[in-house]
Amino acid sequence: MTDRFIPLVDRRLATTGPTIPSSLEAPTGLLSDTLARPLQDLRISVTDRCNFRCVYCMPKAVFGKDYAFLPHAALLSFEEITRLARIFVAHGVGKIRLTGGEPLLRKDIERLIDMLSALRTPEGQPLDLTLTTNGSLLARKAQALKDAGLKRVTVSLDALDETVFRRMNDVDFPVVDVLDGIETAHKAGLGPIKINMVVKRGMNDQEILPMARHFKGSPFILRFIEYMDVGTSNGWKMDEVVPSAEVMRRIAAEMPLEAIDPNYTGETAERWRYRDGGGEIGLISSVTQAFCSDCTRARLSTEGKLYTCLFATGGHDLRALVRAGRSDEEISTAIAHVWRARADRYSELRTANTTGFDQATRKVEMSYIGG
Ligand code: SAM
Ligand code: SF4
Ligand code: SF4
Repeated sequence: MTDRFIPLVDRRLATTGPTIPSSLEAPTGLLSDTLARPLQDLRISVTDRCNFRCVYCMPKAVFGKDYAFLPHAALLSFEEITRLARIFVAHGVGKIRLTGGEPLLRKDIERLIDMLSALRTPEGQPLDLTLTTNGSLLARKAQALKDAGLKRVTVSLDALDETVFRRMNDVDFPVVDVLDGIETAHKAGLGPIKINMVVKRGMNDQEILPMARHFKGSPFILRFIEYMDVGTSNGWKMDEVVPSAEVMRRIAAEMPLEAIDPNYTGETAERWRYRDGGGEIGLISSVTQAFCSDCTRARLSTEGKLYTCLFATGGHDLRALVRAGRSDEEISTAIAHVWRARADRYSELRTANTTGFDQATRKVEMSYIGG
């Protein structure tokens, strides 16, 4: 990859302070946005740091030695995260995914998992508590994560070929350690484990078939993700996206596939299964087939900003409310206000208008907001 220098404006500063309407309201669990989408999932980024420098996410040219990551005091504490999560759960969130940066780098992450796993939905149900990781520390941490109450993990793995994988993570991390982490997590009961592969044309698309062959018939569900134009530092170009339809055709030519129904409305991955009973794969077509109309996800950044879309240009500073001593009711009302006003459908608009679309608008980085 050629090194590019991209002047980076720090969008972490571009925040909209959430308004607290004067009439406070108790959560009903039935919030809905301007497009009638309920609030059901929360992704929490627990760190903006990572030990990888994946070329499509944290390219070294931008996230180099001098990059200013957030100071510890800026991060939400575990108590702050749990308090906000409890409010989101009262609003209808039943699924929480921890992400980052690399979430397993956050010190004592097991303690946060332990705290979050004690939360209950208004119906008294435990949460669907999951985590997305690059797998590098999973072999070491899987059992402790399971013991703390984590249900499942999703592991990112972009190639099996050692050279290609090391080129993708750009820190010379060996693939065998990630495969070890996946096995250990499986044995610890953190399944069903999903494996996410971001496909970037010319970089790892030759790994589509080897990955499919490797995971076919295994307990793991491989999902192919279209390389997205998140953030502004990865220099995204449409011709580097391998459309899911092409991924499907390439696999089906060797291993016939048939479509299967989604597990639930709003599932991001389209499901396909091998006709010979070798299990299933997922295709996440964030670029070629937008799924905004079913998007029920909110994102909480490492420093406590609420984002209502992965492609948002600004967040709503919940940490400011927490640290200003606002009550649960006030924070809850502010969140309700933000969600009701939500009209985001970035991917749909991109699909509808790829040519005239404003790719230059500065968007928040994936490593900061969490994938
Ligand atoms: N570090 C963890 C990991 O890699 O799994 C969690 C955070 S990472 C930002 C979450 C997911 O976002 C990963 O599966 C990663 O591959 C995906 N991702 C990052 N940048 C992406 C991009 N430009 N397009 C598509 N997916 C991306
Ligand atoms: Fe790190 Fe995950 Fe981004 Fe790769 S995708 S740089 S592992 S945060
Ligand atoms: Fe959801 Fe925004 Fe992605 Fe659409 S573009 S699916 S609204 S996160």
